[in-house]
Amino acid sequence: MLSVHTSPLHQPGTGDAGGMNVYIVELAKRLARTGIEVEVFTRATTGDLPCEVELAPGVLVRHVDAGPYEGLSKEDLPAQLCAFTHGVMRAEASQRPGHYDLVHSHYWLSGHVGWLAADRWNVPLVHAMHTMAKVKNAALARGDTPEPAARVIGETQIVGAADRLIANTEEEAAELIRHYAAAREKVAVVHPGVNLDRFRPTDGRDAARARLGLPRDAVIPLFVGRIQPLKAPDILLRAVAVLLTRDPSLRDRLVVPVVGGPSGTGLARPDRLHKLAARLGVADVVRFQPPVGQEGLADWYRAASVLVMPSYSESFGLVAMEAQACGTPVVAAAVGGLPVAVRDGGTGFLVDGHDPARYADVLRRFVDRPGLTDELGAAAVRHAQSFGWEASAQATAEVYDAAVRRHRFAASA
Ligand code: UDP
Repeated sequence: MLSVHTSPLHQPGTGDAGGMNVYIVELAKRLARTGIEVEVFTRATTGDLPCEVELAPGVLVRHVDAGPYEGLSKEDLPAQLCAFTHGVMRAEASQRPGHYDLVHSHYWLSGHVGWLAADRWNVPLVHAMHTMAKVKNAALARGDTPEPAARVIGETQIVGAADRLIANTEEEAAELIRHYAAAREKVAVVHPGVNLDRFRPTDGRDAARARLGLPRDAVIPLFVGRIQPLKAPDILLRAVAVLLTRDPSLRDRLVVPVVGGPSGTGLARPDRLHKLAARLGVADVVRFQPPVGQEGLADWYRAASVLVMPSYSESFGLVAMEAQACGTPVVAAAVGGLPVAVRDGGTGFLVDGHDPARYADVLRRFVDRPGLTDELGAAAVRHAQSFGWEASAQATAEVYDAAVRRHRFAASA
């Protein structure tokens, strides 16, 4: 696997580390358990990293020197792809011939490295976009910066070069075909999963609230994710302001945790959301919480009345699945993979568009009907059961098999 711009060893929830990191860790571990050994190449971001780290039995992370350890943003990395590829090729050259059977690249930067590596090693290239520039640009938050044309060109090249493209949902598969002219037969849909051992209701909402020091009887709409315009945490704050204007008596029993750190275009103004909370007069009910590890995060999900995901674009939205697996319903924008992750009216609610008043309307239902959280939450737990990573790994292994068979067939023809 290639993960150039972010390491599976990094803490997700801030900067460049998010769902893709979790995806690679969980998928690689499950693949390894089925006998598919995985090596993940990633760029070294500090000088003291060992060349190799065993992430789990059968999963090795290899650090590649490509550019200075610090000070490079994701946008600088296209200039380091040659150095990165050099490191990957050197690592392979020190192995016996035929060491790798397949290259699985994640995100377009890795796709470019994979393009050359797979060609040189005469193995298939399987690529996962995770996000796509054209899709993001078609649904930008107001004032957000579009993805550059160079990325669109790079993505288009990978779509042409890859033997197989893995899409998170049918929607993403259609986007690959519509926006990038991907050949239908190249695209396979594999739903991401959720770690069902870690994300489960355990001892329930009251106990989680007690552990986190949250009031037992509070209404708690939770945001979890990287703080950037794309994820629209501001819509939640605006919706909360609407709720409080309509019913000031709610102020005493509303707590709005925002878990995560700045990322992407949000890095330019890391205090933007704090300022917005102050400006909207909701700073007293909002609790900003720096990113937490996955174990700790499970308690935040359990404690919440509802997880709110007003994103402008979301290729899947792992946090929606994680919250549901913990027994918490989700209110989400009806974009990208979220209509797959959330069953509208069954495990949460989908909202069209980004009008804060509409989110306030839906959140009000949780205020008016205290039993709603548990009712939808129970269905959410059942829904999440069909999204274990084992199924994702199994489906991915089938894509690998098909790619290898087709590659061998093409070579012998
Ligand atoms: N996450 C975390 N700690 C945090 C916030 C987020 O570990 O404080 C993880 C979360 O569990 C999820 C991932 O970051 O697996 C975010 O994935 P998602 O698909 O929701 O969004 P992305 O980051 O891919 O845009």
